[in-house]
Amino acid sequence: MPEDRYDAIILGAGAAGLMCASVAGQRGRRILLVDHADAAGKKILISGGGRCNFTNVGTTPDRFLSANPHFARSALARYTPADFIALVDAYTIAWHEKTLGQLFCDGSARQIVAMLLDQCARGAVDIALGDAVGAVDHGDDVYRVSFGRRTATAPSLVIATGGPSIPKMGATGFAYDLARRFRLKVVEPRPALVPLTLGGDDVLFRSLSGVSADVVAQHDKTRFREAALFTHRGLSGPAILQISSYWRHGDPIRIDFLPDRSAGWLKSAKRDQPRATVARLLGAALPDRLAATLAERIGLDGELGGLTDAKVTAAERMLAAWPFHPNGTEGFAKAEVTAGGISTADLSSQTMEARKVPGLYAIGEAVDVTGWLGGYNFQWAWASGWAAAQSI
Ligand SMILES: Cc1cc2nc3c(=O)[nH]c(=O)nc-3n(C[C@H](O)[C@H](O)[C@H](O)COP(=O)(O)OP(=O)(O)OC[C@H]3O[C@@H](n4cnc5c(N)ncnc54)[C@H](O)[C@@H]3O)c2cc1C
Repeated sequence: MPEDRYDAIILGAGAAGLMCASVAGQRGRRILLVDHADAAGKKILISGGGRCNFTNVGTTPDRFLSANPHFARSALARYTPADFIALVDAYTIAWHEKTLGQLFCDGSARQIVAMLLDQCARGAVDIALGDAVGAVDHGDDVYRVSFGRRTATAPSLVIATGGPSIPKMGATGFAYDLARRFRLKVVEPRPALVPLTLGGDDVLFRSLSGVSADVVAQHDKTRFREAALFTHRGLSGPAILQISSYWRHGDPIRIDFLPDRSAGWLKSAKRDQPRATVARLLGAALPDRLAATLAERIGLDGELGGLTDAKVTAAERMLAAWPFHPNGTEGFAKAEVTAGGISTADLSSQTMEARKVPGLYAIGEAVDVTGWLGGYNFQWAWASGWAAAQSI
């Protein structure tokens, strides 16, 4: 069977692969983009509740987790949110800023996929969908990839197959298997931006399923102020998803349920409203069921005026740093992204090329770079895809 020759083969037609293919194609490179799914950009389509939170105008390198926190700096600086916004504007896709710098389509995520596919068409990218990737070999300075009944060769191969989060959408750990075969290290992948589960003493809180509150969630020195949501399995909501990326098994997280109260507020309340109870004060500030559960747990019955200052201060401290001991996460099935991945130590931060394997590149979520919730992960996909496209 004849082999099709390309300048680069990109595995994975998701956010990073589409960006990389379109930019390299428009630079005059002959590009083949291969995906086992029957359509390109499936995660883009479901992202942001169908409206795709396509970037964040507050993108800075400190909003990304990686064993090397400096790795993402170069790519993020060279392809910025403004660059992607310019592309979106050129296609007259209407968008709005929702909160915390997050940009969403007014219409549908389909517009972003259509835009990227049009960009690929302008770069004459060959797109092959619906066939599993078979053998991937390297020899005589070319990569040889079999898929379906075809075989293609190219001097460059880009791994853009993402991470294993949401396997029912076709997500796999293929990137890691391939990387390991070429002797690239893989930082232990783990679910991130994922709900946390509660057990043991915390199980009582599961009865609050559906209750949410504006809180500060904290892990070590990392803090996020956003909504937390109690679920029938534990904790979710943006504040928890954010903190989950930092959480490791066995660690506690702490929740400040009253982040706007200044230190000493409960002692002041004791002085000003001695006949009030902790339960009543919490009831005025928090959803009823949450207030009742916290009050019950604190166990301070009776009027504030009858309590010692030490007890009042201890209760206030508890409410400002309520310890939860998650017993796990809801796993890759519910994780918005995968933290960890192909080690940045083995990649060039300028080009995403493997240092010791010429012509092999890795981009997007497959790499050990994970953004916060809020459009950062797509910005990394665009930026890393663009960086590799300058080099292949
Ligand atoms: C529900 C949900 C909502 C999200 N919302 C947002 C959001 O609003 N904003 C944001 O910034 N991020 C969001 N994300 C994260 C974002 O979708 C990912 O970070 C991003 O898609 C990663 O891009 P990627 O190209 O690296 O991987 P992907 O987009 O996952 O693409 C990987 C591609 O590789 C293909 N593939 C996998 N294995 C193989 C294989 N063995 N052979 C061939 N092809 C293969 C897949 O079919 C897929 O098309 C969301 C994620 C989820 C799950």
